[in-house]
Parts: sequence; C-alpha cells; structure tokens
Amino acid sequence: MNAEIIAVGSELLLGQIVNTNARFLSQQLAGLGIDVYYHTVVGDNPDRVKAAIEHAETRSEIIIFTGGLGPTKDDLTKETIARHLGKGLVMDETALASIELFFKRTNRVMTENNRKQALVLEGSQILANDHGMAPGMVLESAGHIYMLLPGPPKEMEPMFLDYGGPALSSKTGSNEKIVSRVLRFFGIGEAALETEIMDIIEAQSNPTIAPLAGDGEVTLRLTAKHLDEKIAHMMLDDVEKNINQRVGEFLYGYDNTSLLQELMNGLKERKLTITAAESLTGGLFQQELTTISGASSVFEGGVVCYSNEVKQQILQVNQETLDNHGAVSEQCAKELAENAARIFATDIGISFTGVAGPDELEGKPVGTVYIGIAVKGSPTMVEKITLSGTRNAIRNRSVKYGCYFLLKKLKESQNAN
Ligand code: ATP
Repeated sequence: MNAEIIAVGSELLLGQIVNTNARFLSQQLAGLGIDVYYHTVVGDNPDRVKAAIEHAETRSEIIIFTGGLGPTKDDLTKETIARHLGKGLVMDETALASIELFFKRTNRVMTENNRKQALVLEGSQILANDHGMAPGMVLESAGHIYMLLPGPPKEMEPMFLDYGGPALSSKTGSNEKIVSRVLRFFGIGEAALETEIMDIIEAQSNPTIAPLAGDGEVTLRLTAKHLDEKIAHMMLDDVEKNINQRVGEFLYGYDNTSLLQELMNGLKERKLTITAAESLTGGLFQQELTTISGASSVFEGGVVCYSNEVKQQILQVNQETLDNHGAVSEQCAKELAENAARIFATDIGISFTGVAGPDELEGKPVGTVYIGIAVKGSPTMVEKITLSGTRNAIRNRSVKYGCYFLLKKLKESQNAN
C-alpha cells in the first residue's frame, strides 16, 4: 500500500518549525513495508486542508495527518475531515475521562475547549494519547485509511509506535512481525560507510538496510519481517554480523543511545572517575556530560582553560611547552589531560585544545584539534583531528570525538584484560 503524510500547521509553512513528524513517520512506514509517495504541508485553513485531502485521495491509499487536534480555534483537522467524509463527531468517554484526570492531577481548571479534544470521528478506532490529551484516530472510508495524529512529536511518536503502526499493520492484512534495530556509527562518513557495505545493502531486501546521516554520525536502520518474531531478530543478527565485519570498529551503540550515554555507561560499569581540561570547547564536554542523569558518580568537576595563563597557572602546563609548541599542540593536550587527572585525583583526564575559528591560531588552521586522554595505568594518548564547519560545529564535533576516542580506549583496555 502507499501512503501520504499531511502535516497541518501554519508554523510549518512560516518556517518556524521543521516537519520532523514527516521524517519520523516516513521511516516508520518504510519499516512497515508501506511506501510513502508524498509529503504535504498545509496551513491551518479549512478550505486548503480540504483541498489537500481531496488531492491526497486521488493518489494515496493511506492518508496520515499530524497536527491540528488541539483545543484552539485553528486546530481544525478532525472537523474538516468529518465534514469532508460526512461523519459526525462523537464524545469518546475514555478520552474525556483521561483529559479530566489530567486537569485534576495538575490542579488546573478544564474549559469547554478541552472537552472538544475528546470528540472523535464517528466509527473511528481510537489511538490513546499516553503523553498528552488529544486522542488519535484511524478510520476506513471509501477505500482509504485516514489516520489522525497529534502535532507534538513527544505525543505523536509514542502514539504511532504503540498504537498507530500496529493498527496499520492489522488493516493492511499482514501477520508478519516487523522488527527494527538501529546501528550507530561514529568516526566514518556516510559515503565511506555506504561504499564499504554497498554490496550488502544492494543484496538485501529482507532485512532492509537504510542509512541515515546527521550530526556527525551515521546510523543504519535494519528492518526485518517474518511471521516468527524470533526469526526476524535472528535475521537482523546475521546482517549486523556481516556489516560489523566491515565497519564494526566504528559501531558504538544501538537504537536511541548517544556517544555520551555510552561513555557514561562505560565509566559507571568500570567505576572510573573523569575530569576535563577544556580550551576550545569552553566547558561544552562537561556541560554535556552533566545532562546525563547520574553524572555525579563519575564527575566532580573540571577546568575551562581558555587562556594560556589558566593552562599554565591552574593546570601547570610547562612554559616551554607553550613557548616551543604552542597551546594547540600534542604536547599541550597531553599535559592538560595528565595534569587535570592528577589535580582532580581522577582515573581519567580528557583535554580539548584547538582552533574553533573563524581565525587561525598560532599559525594553525581552523579546525585543528588535539584531544588528550590520560587513563591511569596506561600511556597518555593524544589524537589530532582536522574538522571543518562553523565555530560551533567544530566545538560540538570535538566533544563527540572526545567521547568516541575515550569509549574506544575503554573498550580496548577491557579487551586487553
Ligand atoms: P496541541 O494540543 O499541542 O495544540 P495539535 O495536535 O493541535 O497539538 P499543533 O497545534 O498543530 O498540534 O502543533 C503543536 C506543536 O507540535 C507545534 O507547535 C510544534 O511544536 C509541534 N508540531 C506540529 N506539527 C509538527 C510537525 N509536522 N513536525 C514537528 N513538530 C510539529
């Protein structure tokens, strides 16, 4: 079957928000074996929403709407669809009870408008909203399947995963179980990764392999279909094994994890503490690390050593090092990492020194970055990387590389033991 996604919301047309709902739904629908042929975006205007529905009906079997299910006047998706299909709107008592409970729990006064959110299309199957108020709906009419989902991604995504996707699978008549696994890679570009495994991608139709790049990372989504879920998982294991034989050294995690999360897990598992000496990243590594809950068990503090005075006076970098090699150098990164670990009495010290731009520094070009990693009991390692992009992109990617190198080092020393 084929599908069209209609995102309703003038803020999308005004460029105030990006249509991430369409991206998410397209990925999910691909996993369900449903082809998405069109993405449509339409403002909060009943005539134009109606025109979009009519157009979609001429070319798509499944039409999925996101947005416009809220309590305000411009939230008009379901009213417009109801009018278009000649269906009434009826009160869904379960949805109403859950909205009432939400207001009671948060001690807020419920208005008549909020009751409106519990109105659903007559004859539709309800998709519960476990993270908000407006329920979703699925309705079959005159050969089309209409699905209505809320706009906020934090409501829409779990609703689709828990109820919308399964409802579509049952309507499209397949008993096959669909399982997905996301492999996350760092340190290899999308083109390079694709080249390495192109023959595997081309030879595969079940499981499918979908590469996606973003934020300096590459992910591969593997999706397998089989009547037996266990076999579907084994099919994923086989493809993953093939992929890892080629590019396994760059694989750092699965599904929704992040480099920082993996690093935090690695430090906690090994009961290691860490500190950081940050020059070009200006505290970004430490800021990011402390966004992960439980950071206090591995991290007590560190230093932002932006100037040479701080590098020298607080982190005790040798004057000769700064004079002979400069602050952006392997030697400086090494001393920063080692001295930070010594001063803070931690198992690990990590340092970041480099040129974020826009101007070069000490004759070194923008994007030159040294990352020092001092781990108690093993020789200090300094990695030099050359990054491109804006000042912020260089800083952000330096932090990611720092996590990646340290994670690799932790894994290597574990394998060695
Ligand atoms: P609410 O009850 O919050 O009003 P709703 O279903 O009416 O939900 P909208 O009012 O259309 O949804 O959108 C609410 C918010 O959801 C938007 O301000 C935006 O932050 C997010 N949102 C809506 N549509 C999209 C989209 N296509 N992609 C990403 N985010 C979206």
